[in-house]
Amino acid sequence: MSDPVVRPPTLHLTPMLRQYLAVKAQHPDAIVLYRMGDFFEMFFDDAVKAAPILEVQLTARQRGSDNEAPMCGVPHHALDTYLAKLLAAGLKAAICDQVEDPAKAKGLVRREVVRVVTPGTLSDPGLLDSREENLLAAVAWSEGRGRREARGPRGEPGAAGPGPAGRDAPGERPAIGAGAFLDVSTGDFFVRRWASVEEAADDLALLRPRELLLAGGAAPPAAVSEWAERDCPCVTALEGDRLLDPRRAAELLQRHFGTGTLRGFGLQPDEPAVLAAAAALAYARETQRSELAHVQALAVREVQDRLVLDAATLANLEVFRPAGAAAAAATGPGRRRVTLLGVLDHTATPPGGRLLREWLRRPLRDPEAIGRRHQAVAELAADHPRRERLRGRLARAGDPERLLARAVLGTLMPREAAALRDGLAEAPAILAEIAAAAAPLLGELAAADPLPGLAAELARVLEPAPAANLDEGGVIAAGVDPELDRYRSLTRDSKRHVLALEARERERTGIASLKARYNRVFGYYLEVSNANQARVPADYIRRQTLANAERYVTTELKELEEQILAAEERQVALEVQHFQGLTATVAAAAAGLHALAAALGALDVLASFAEVAARQRYGCPQMLPAGGPIAIREGRHPVVEQASRDAFVPNDVELDAESAQIVLLTGPNMGGKSTYLRQVALIVLMAQAGSLVPAESAAIGVVDRIFTRVGASDDLARGESTFMVEMIETANILRHATEHSLVILDEVGRGTATFDGLSLAWAIVEHLHEHRRPKTLFATHYHELTELAALLPRVVNRTMAVKEWDERIVFLRRVEPGSADKSYGLHVARLAGLPPAVIERAAEILANLESQEYDLAGRPRLARGHAPAAAADPAQLTLFAPPEQVVASLLRAVDLDQLSPLAALNLLHSLKSRLG
Ligand code: ADP
Ligand code: MG
Repeated sequence: MSDPVVRPPTLHLTPMLRQYLAVKAQHPDAIVLYRMGDFFEMFFDDAVKAAPILEVQLTARQRGSDNEAPMCGVPHHALDTYLAKLLAAGLKAAICDQVEDPAKAKGLVRREVVRVVTPGTLSDPGLLDSREENLLAAVAWSEGRGRREARGPRGEPGAAGPGPAGRDAPGERPAIGAGAFLDVSTGDFFVRRWASVEEAADDLALLRPRELLLAGGAAPPAAVSEWAERDCPCVTALEGDRLLDPRRAAELLQRHFGTGTLRGFGLQPDEPAVLAAAAALAYARETQRSELAHVQALAVREVQDRLVLDAATLANLEVFRPAGAAAAAATGPGRRRVTLLGVLDHTATPPGGRLLREWLRRPLRDPEAIGRRHQAVAELAADHPRRERLRGRLARAGDPERLLARAVLGTLMPREAAALRDGLAEAPAILAEIAAAAAPLLGELAAADPLPGLAAELARVLEPAPAANLDEGGVIAAGVDPELDRYRSLTRDSKRHVLALEARERERTGIASLKARYNRVFGYYLEVSNANQARVPADYIRRQTLANAERYVTTELKELEEQILAAEERQVALEVQHFQGLTATVAAAAAGLHALAAALGALDVLASFAEVAARQRYGCPQMLPAGGPIAIREGRHPVVEQASRDAFVPNDVELDAESAQIVLLTGPNMGGKSTYLRQVALIVLMAQAGSLVPAESAAIGVVDRIFTRVGASDDLARGESTFMVEMIETANILRHATEHSLVILDEVGRGTATFDGLSLAWAIVEHLHEHRRPKTLFATHYHELTELAALLPRVVNRTMAVKEWDERIVFLRRVEPGSADKSYGLHVARLAGLPPAVIERAAEILANLESQEYDLAGRPRLARGHAPAAAADPAQLTLFAPPEQVVASLLRAVDLDQLSPLAALNLLHSLKSRLG
């Protein structure tokens, strides 16, 4: 990633510069921060690259008249602040520190790279958001991918996509590649297998790793490179020794986890996932200079075990971030509140906060597992006092997961150890609160081991309120080590000894103003003012002359000083030793601590769901197997109902595979269509994440994916070539939706000319109806589309009710059967205050357009003449009759006089497709 270090040939190489260059040679792709005194310095190219990012002055280190090295530096105490800037720019930093005391070094001080800080391997609390995961990703591709991909045009289902059969057979899908994801700050470690290039790119966009390693195999596909280009500035292609082969990769993982085979993890030794996982682990261990004992397991998290939400859907549904205008308006902490996360996040602990994000990003798909979460949430929601107690205690439980990681990495600080101690102290009471719970999931969580041994050890060894740093002393409790206690009382008493000596000397010399003092340069001394110089005894040794006083030492004072300093030094050394022992004890409890942290995190999320459910009067959904209906009574939009001042109008929805697969929703602008669509998707998402839902009742057949596509002009956030984006995303839906998916299409087709858009929308609905059969909600301002309900048996029309009153409209925000027969655009324009003359003229033009372009009857209708009864007939026939007969009956039913050219074309298309 970087050019080789430029070194002017004439440069005079001091030993220090030589030491620097040796270090730099080992870390060509990182910015080397080289400790000199109180600064970390950067040289040459590193300095040139880093200075503008760090906003520090680029200077030159003079070496004679004609050569100079560019350099810049940052104060060592502010290192974290500057590291954050380098990381944000996607750079890595190698911290090269002094590893011996400069005062004691003979010649050049020894320096070593103590750690390499990279965006994806952070564990410092100062550099991390406590509520976000921080993932390092390593990706590897099958050698065969190139060939498979080459067989068809890019993205064709047959080319790289999962075959329909593969969808439901985990592990049997041909993997084109895999990604391994590691959070060094928590020890979470998992792999994902990808069946297609899009799936890989989608998954990466969803998981948002901070850093990407290319771990070998074939070159990454273009879609992945494009994603990295856009969203992941730190990419490293592993090479040389770091590039593992499958055998070494498998061995490395087996050694780390102490297992003889990887099959226990559900992995085949030669698959790309193994290569990726080993690469991620090896890289993290190398940069952290640690064995990473807190990385306890490797999970295979199959994409298809969970409800799949692509990045576009998460964005459209505003799950984590507000979109469009809302995003621009909301800043600061208020920003999150207008998202689903903002509404649901009442977690009390950082691990709970991270887990909630994970549950929302990857909701479940197994109705039974979801039901277990619901049961737990409902139980907690019903018991207010218990929930309050639980949440109060959880708030004090802290972040054991990340503290464990710090212990394993050897970077645990005394006050962090105290935080772990205090957190562990809450564990038994937290678990006791749920020990008698009826919900099986709560019972399981209650069975976690609260680690009383570790808690007791922390309580025994640590001071109640330890000092921040080890070199100050005051970290280890009294009574832990008799030797330490002795030194401590010595240093404490020494102050008294010095005072006693002062008193004795005053008496001996008769100088009442004589003072025993201490400073860092001279140590202890006796100060005598000039007026009293005559009375200074002969055995005083002069050390320093001030304007109005002289400073002396005596042999006795020197001896006392040596005792005191030795005792202090010994005391600190012993404290360091005990603290390291304690850190090792914590690290050794990694497995138990990990399990406990996971249990507390899950409990925190369940309690958070319960809190919202109680506050917002959510109901418990009933989960049905995949393919079942989605029936919601009096559903509300979880975010809008909290954000809007007006009372929210609840609405029902009824989607099923037989008669209401596709709901076409028409109605005026501002009628509430987009809100309704999102509310249904959010309720399904919430339910599958384990939350209760804003509805009177809900029965939900689990879905495998939620797709959303928001028409171009509604899509304020993007501003790209919007129609193209719209069509690409729609294509994605048409390729990947299954009969178990939920599809939300909001104003699709809007981004182009009217007839283009209308025809596309028409064809898309037909395709979803005939081929993919996902449950679909389609909001459209093309009221002509509602004619489809007459033609297609599983399409139903709904409209947002409005009341016309005195030339104006009142939005009732209620979804009703039927369709809007006009678009109400003019009414909205009037509401918006357009001059009456303009409105009148527009009405005139509209009348012309409608009469000439759509229909001789003056009504904008495309497929008039289909009585619903006539439509039901062919539907019946489809099931039992040969296709020719169906076509014949459809033809007979059609009234050619009433058919527009477009409708005719569509009819022809549908007839043809029935035949084959
Ligand atoms: P459309 O997509 O039909 O143009 P929107 O869904 O964008 O309409 O809704 C417009 C506004 O109406 C929203 O900003 C929201 O505040 C309000 N709204 C929508 N649905 C409801 C409802 N069910 N109850 C109350 N207010 C609603
Ligand atoms: Mg809308």
